[in-house]
Amino acid sequence: MAYDFDLYVIGAGSGGVRAARFAAGFGAKVAVAESRYLGGTCVNVGCVPKKLLVYGAHFAEDFEQASGFGWSLGEANFDWATLIANKDREINRLNGIYRNLLLNSGVTLHEGHARLVDPHQVEINGERFTAKHILIATGGWPQIPDIPGHKHAIGSNEAFFLKELPKRVLVVGGGYIAVEFAGIFHGLGAQTTLLYRGDLFLRGFDGAVRKHLQEELTKRGMDLQFNADIERIDKQADGSLKATLKDGRVLEADCVFYATGRRPMLDNLGLENTGVKLDERGFVEVDDLYQTAESSILAIGDVIGRVQLTPVALAEGMAVARRLFKPEQYRPVDYAMIPTAVFSLPNIGTVGLSEEQAKADGHKVQIFESRFRPMKLTLTECQERTLMKLVVDAETDKVLGCHMVGPDAGEIIQGLAIALKAGATKQHFDETIGVHPTAAEEFVTMRTPVAG
Ligand code: FAD
Ligand code: NDP
Repeated sequence: MAYDFDLYVIGAGSGGVRAARFAAGFGAKVAVAESRYLGGTCVNVGCVPKKLLVYGAHFAEDFEQASGFGWSLGEANFDWATLIANKDREINRLNGIYRNLLLNSGVTLHEGHARLVDPHQVEINGERFTAKHILIATGGWPQIPDIPGHKHAIGSNEAFFLKELPKRVLVVGGGYIAVEFAGIFHGLGAQTTLLYRGDLFLRGFDGAVRKHLQEELTKRGMDLQFNADIERIDKQADGSLKATLKDGRVLEADCVFYATGRRPMLDNLGLENTGVKLDERGFVEVDDLYQTAESSILAIGDVIGRVQLTPVALAEGMAVARRLFKPEQYRPVDYAMIPTAVFSLPNIGTVGLSEEQAKADGHKVQIFESRFRPMKLTLTECQERTLMKLVVDAETDKVLGCHMVGPDAGEIIQGLAIALKAGATKQHFDETIGVHPTAAEEFVTMRTPVAG
């Protein structure tokens, strides 16, 4: 049967655009549908605007520290509206770049909400198109628990477009987004409380990293409340919010920001017209080739709920494009040793196993740890400390994990990820000459294990 397209991609986010562009480059006839914004979550309400706000928040410390280097500045004033307007302008520019990327690679762009009509057919803006393969790359959406008054709370999508910086913010959650946004609000001057339901935030990260960040955030004056959760939110006569916690305490705020995970975006997608199945968490179920239970339909990125990171969605998009249209270049995505950063202030950078995970996996470990005051701060009053940690297999000498909390941790960890991917041992680290004077050199000068 002749189809309108070889590949129809639903969602022009990180994964969808990558798959569409490369498939078209390999000679396939490709269309992509996008209902909201080109570039998806990462470009519009994720990585990019988040990092710009983190940069904005970081200036608060830069101004404070500058006096130690002889600079005297007038009183620093921050204007939220300027930051948001400049951020919006940059995002608009990126939207244009994504449009050109797609069109210049020969992809047909359909702007509107796409719905599956059957295993080979999509409906968009009242028109129907057939395709040999359909790729679901519809991403995720913030999930706010259904507590009384949840409509008064916002999620990350709204936070990027607030008209003004709230004076008092309650951030709920203990994952990436909660920790990053707590840093943004706090750095920009809002009185910020982070509420997390467990004992310590960032579950799954190395224990020393979690503890170190807790100490650093507390030093900076952020109010961290663990084993705390909101039962209900009420709007008060003056427009402010009253959050009643499960333990009966009441906190007042101007903004309650939820970052309690993301659900797959499957709204009105028409999955019921196909044989696509969901897993027990509600994400689209796929096999190792991103094939759903319906043979003509594939899925990648956040909607499959594996690793919700942009570079992972990109790798999955690339793998699908290659397998379908350039099989000789196909390589499966390797999910081992995915480096990641949390852009909290200070940043976390991590790759490989945490000490806890390594032990749980049966490794006998040697731990190397270094805590120090970064050189840049020695002329300032700032007492921030950096943490670096290596988790090493005591039997094979292989470095299983590298962890850092401190300035530029995300930048530093990328290079270490290559070393770990290549199977580096502690001896390789020891034999590597440092770059002096940097913080990063500490990763190659740690000699004495602290625990085993
Ligand atoms: P998305 O990028 O979400 O794209 C899906 C697209 O599909 C969207 O544009 C959507 O409008 C469209 N769509 C949905 N349904 C339909 C439909 N029926 N018809 C047409 N179009 C549809 N990752 C990092 O690696 N680093 C970070 O620093 C980082 N920061 C983040 C910060 C925040 C606040 C958030 C929310 C996420 C962050 N992420 C980060 C995660 C990253 O954004 C996602 O992992 C990535 O965007 C997933 O890409 P995707 O292609 O699966 O989906
Ligand atoms: P995460 O899954 O990272 O964290 C969710 C947090 O909310 C956890 O602390 C969880 O607690 C808590 N939580 C979940 N449900 C509830 C509830 N009902 N009540 C109270 N607390 C709850 O999700 P995020 O929303 O922070 O981010 C989504 C994903 O986006 C991340 O996992 C990451 O993959 C990606 N991302 C990546 C970034 C980066 O690379 N820098 C930045 C931002 C996002 P518990 O631990 O107890 O389950």
